[in-house]
This record gives sequence, C-alpha cells and structure tokens, in this order.
Amino acid sequence: MDIAVVGSNNVDLITYIDRMPKLGETLEAPDFEMGCGGKGANQAIAASRLGAEVRMVTRVGTDIFAANTVKNFADNGIDTEWVLETEGPSGVAPIFVDKDSNNSIVIVKGANGQLTPEDVAAAGDAIAECQLLVLQLEIPLETVYAAIDLAVERGVPVLLNPAPADPALDMAYVGKCTYFVPNETELSLLVGRDVESLDEIRDAGAEILARSELENLIVTLGSRGSLWLTRDDEVLVPAHAVDAVDSTGAGDAFIGCFSTQITRGLSVPEALEQASLYAANSVTKRGTQYSYATADEFEEWKN
Ligand code: ADP
Repeated sequence: MDIAVVGSNNVDLITYIDRMPKLGETLEAPDFEMGCGGKGANQAIAASRLGAEVRMVTRVGTDIFAANTVKNFADNGIDTEWVLETEGPSGVAPIFVDKDSNNSIVIVKGANGQLTPEDVAAAGDAIAECQLLVLQLEIPLETVYAAIDLAVERGVPVLLNPAPADPALDMAYVGKCTYFVPNETELSLLVGRDVESLDEIRDAGAEILARSELENLIVTLGSRGSLWLTRDDEVLVPAHAVDAVDSTGAGDAFIGCFSTQITRGLSVPEALEQASLYAANSVTKRGTQYSYATADEFEEWKN
C-alpha cells in the first residue's frame, strides 16, 4: 500500500439555479447533479487515479448515500476495508450554484464527525503498512491527532492539509508532520492576519516553521502556484497557465498527485511540479472528482 487517507467523504448535492432563493421562497431549478466529494475522498481518488495504491479510513452513514460512496471508492480501485458504518446520515453537502457561478454550501458532517481515535487504533496495522498517511480537518481534531501519533510511532510520514481552516489546530501536532500543506486562507488563519503578497506569505510561513518543528511547509497559492518553504530554502513553483473553468477541488487534486509522486520517490520540487500540472489539468474541467485525470489521461495531456 502506498497511501492511507484517514478522512472525510461527502455526497455533494449540487442544484444549479438562476439566482439564490430568498428566505421562504420556493424556486424551480433548471439542473441538478450529485457528486462524490469530501476532501479525504477527493485526495484518495486523485491519488488512486494516478495509480497509487490507496486505503481509505473513513465512516459512512446508514442512508442511501453510503452504498454510492463505497461503490465510488471501489470503482476507483481504493481499498475499502476500513470504510466503517455509523448509524445515521452520511456526510452530505447541499450546494446551490447560481448562473454567475456564485455558490452557497452547507456541510452536514454526518458520519464524518463520528470517526474516532478508537477507529484509528483499530486500523493501526492497516495504516502502518502504508508509505504515507494523508490527513485533512473534516474529521474530529482528536482523531487527526491520534492518527498523527500512530503514524509517528509506526514510522509512517504524515502529510497534513489543514482544511477547512481550524484555529484550534495544535502546532505541536503540525511539527510531527513531514509535510504541512495549507492554502493562503488557511495560512492566514493560522498566523491570525491576512497574507496576500509573496513576502507576507514567506513571513507567515517562517512563523509557522518557527512555532513548530515542521520541516516542509507547502503553501498553495491558487493561480499563482505553490511555495515550498524549509528552514533554509524555498522554491516557488508557478502554476501552469490554463483556461480555468472550475477550480473547485484543485487543492485536493494537487495533494493527491503530490502524495503519489512522493511515494514514488520523487523529490519535493519534482513532486510539486507534477502536482501543479495535475491541478492545472483539473481546473480545465467542471466538477471535483470528475475533473481528476487518470494516469493515462494525465500523460496524454502533458504531451
Ligand atoms: P484550494 O483548492 O485548496 O484553495 P488552491 O486554490 O491554492 O487550493 O489550488 C491548489 C493548486 O492548484 C495551486 O497551487 C495551483 O498549482 C493549482 N491551481 C489552482 N487554481 C489554478 C488555476 N486557475 N490555474 C492553474 N493552476 C491552478
């Protein structure tokens, strides 16, 4: 096994409407789409489509969405032995998108909120068999901490993507990770101020490195690319210029690809270059998981 993802899965319920409904108003919507999402699942799917062997540790509910999520993992070649079931709803995300592409999103954590440190302990051997553990923050923080502790104890490097941003994140745990990958918004929240210019991002990054024992900080900067910071070096990887159609899930594509390349033995700058290309390819297509290329599609697009 290459990668273990201990994280979330969601079903996106996307309603396309001309305009947002007012309070109490009933509107007819011209189109609807259901998609599989959740940051954990997205990152797992991207990695698996690129050919990594991926194991997902997650919880689904006992509703009709659960079977769909498990099938989606299996169809994408992901190991589902640790997809556990919790009485009640799965994670769902009702989303409205208007004709100007404004969106409003409600996230129901559902079963994702029930993934516990005990689940991590039970899946311990299955996680320890992997070359890299990938985590995000759509499951309880104590579960994220338990997974980091387990991985450190068993010698498995950890990539933590602190999304969605959580000010309660303990920097001592960040320091135990090998790779910490926030976007600009998450970095801003962690340092408690707005960061926009590259210099502000560098300063904020230096602060994160100073506050923890972290070795590799990678900040994703949307269409500006990504910045890798260590204690004594930095590399800016520009984004690839593409006609962007939908950047939803670009960060997850980036992390799925970066993780895959790292487990293949690429250096950090080499893996970032591939991740940057893969994420750029994903923004040229609508949807989240729909936009993640397979290894063959990715090779063809690059040539
Ligand atoms: P998130 O989706 O978490 O907000 P970002 O927006 O920072 O993450 O995007 C992650 C990565 O995807 C970027 O570092 C960049 O490489 C790539 N990317 C994002 N938006 C674009 C774009 N418009 N054009 C090309 N690449 C992009």
